[in-house]
Amino acid sequence: MYLQVSEARKIMGRLKKGDDLLQALTKICQELGITLGEVKVIGAVSQVRIGYYHQNSRNYEWLDLARPMEILALEGNISLKDGKPFVHAHVTLADGEGRAYGGHVAEGTMVFAAEFVIQELKADRSLDRQMDEETGLFLWPKK
Ligand code: ZN
Repeated sequence: MYLQVSEARKIMGRLKKGDDLLQALTKICQELGITLGEVKVIGAVSQVRIGYYHQNSRNYEWLDLARPMEILALEGNISLKDGKPFVHAHVTLADGEGRAYGGHVAEGTMVFAAEFVIQELKADRSLDRQMDEETGLFLWPKK
């Protein structure tokens, strides 16, 4: 399954200190009515909650790091889940020794400072996440 997309609006901005990173990005998409797109963020977080999906047991293991980290790169996409904008994002973070951590961004990752770019995309159909029985994940349709 794939879509042919074209670029629409591009939005740049910063998130506030103390924002929940994922919730803040989702709120911007809701406010602007962005239902398809991509997102990038750099900056720093004061607290981290990232996940690793265990493919056999089909559950997320959550890693909580209660310390400041740099956001080296956050890459994500925006589509629909339950008819609402849904941000799926992965992040690479660095600690004070330059060690990298990474994973699936969860609520509970708190912004210290963050600069984002959202590229809205348009297509002739929407992408709606649905439970995929093969993986146990909410994915885009197979076709
Ligand atoms: Zn993920």
